[in-house]
Amino acid sequence: MELSYLFNDPPSVQLASERIEADACQFSLSRKFRFYYRFLRPVMPIRIRQWLQKSQSHDVSEQWYLPLSLMDQIRQDRNIKSEDIWPESAKYAFVLTHDVETSEGMQHIARIADAEEELGFRSSWNLVPYKYKIDAGLVSDLQSRGFEIGIHGYNHDGQLYSSKRVFKKRASAINQAIDKYQAVGFRSPMVHRNLNWLQDLNIEYDSSCFDIDPFQAAPGGVGIIWPFVAGKFIELPYTLPQDHTLFIKLGERTGKIWMDKLNYIQKHQGMAMMLTHPDYLIGHRETEIYLNFLKHVRDAGDYWHATPRAISQWWRRRDKLSSAITLSQTKFDLSKT
Ligand SMILES: [Zn+2]
Repeated sequence: MELSYLFNDPPSVQLASERIEADACQFSLSRKFRFYYRFLRPVMPIRIRQWLQKSQSHDVSEQWYLPLSLMDQIRQDRNIKSEDIWPESAKYAFVLTHDVETSEGMQHIARIADAEEELGFRSSWNLVPYKYKIDAGLVSDLQSRGFEIGIHGYNHDGQLYSSKRVFKKRASAINQAIDKYQAVGFRSPMVHRNLNWLQDLNIEYDSSCFDIDPFQAAPGGVGIIWPFVAGKFIELPYTLPQDHTLFIKLGERTGKIWMDKLNYIQKHQGMAMMLTHPDYLIGHRETEIYLNFLKHVRDAGDYWHATPRAISQWWRRRDKLSSAITLSQTKFDLSKT
C-alpha cells in the first residue's frame, strides 16, 4: 500500500510513515478486548458499559488531545503556508462527521442536521448498515440538502477485525451497503483500524484513524492533523476529541477542550474534523455545547468548510499536483498485511 503525505522531504515522510504503519497498518486487539467484544459486550446493558467507561482511570497528560511529539518533529524548520494546503487561502479545514450508533440516534438526526444547516454547515452521517432500520426517506432528504452518508462498519459488534477471514466476508456486505446508500466513505466502529485490510472497500476515503486519542480500545493515533493518501483511498483522521470521550468518559461540561484543539489546528493549518454521535447529543446541555462550538467556529471564520468527500477529492488533486511538481517525492511501500 502506497502512502503519500503532506511533506515530501524524506525525513518527515519517514517519521510519519513509521507512525502510521505502527498505528494503523498492524492492528490487532488485546486478548482482554477480544474476550470483551465476544462475550461481555453483547449482554451488557449500555448503562453498565458507560459506568465502567467513566470509572476507568486514565493516566494521561493534561494536554492529551494535542499530538505534540510527532508534530514538533515534522514541523521543525518548515514554513508551510496555509494557501499551500487548503483552497480559498483558508487557515484550516473544518469537517463535521457523526456516527449513528442506534435506532434512537437515527431519530435525532433530523434535529441536529436542521441546526447545522441553519448555521451554514453540512455534515456526514455514518450509518451502521446491518444493525438497525435505516430510514431511506431521511437518507435521500439529507443527501438532497448537501449532507453526506457514510458507512459505519457492518453491525457494530466490535468483531469486524477479529480475523482476516471475518473482515473479507463482511467487506463484501459493506460494499453492497456503500453502493445502496451512494456512500463513498467509511469509518470503523470503535475506530478499530487496519489500512491494509480496508483496501477491500470501494471507497474514496476512510476516517477510522485519528491524530491522537488515548481513550479508545485501540488507543494511539497517527500523530498528524492532515489527510494522507493510503493506497487507493484518502485517509481523513478525526482531530477533535469525540463527544463520547468528553461528555461520558471525562464528564466535561464545557467546550474548552474543543476550543483549545481548534486553536492548535488553526496554528498548524490542519484539518479540524469532529466526530460526534446523535446518540450522545441527546441531552440539552450536550447539544448546547456542540452548537455553541459551531457558532464560535462560524463567527471566527478563516476556515474552509466541506464534507469529507469534498475534502478527500481536494486532497487527491492536491497530492497529484504536488507529486507532479516534486518528481523526487518519496513514497513508502507499506504492503505488509
Ligand atoms: Zn460507532
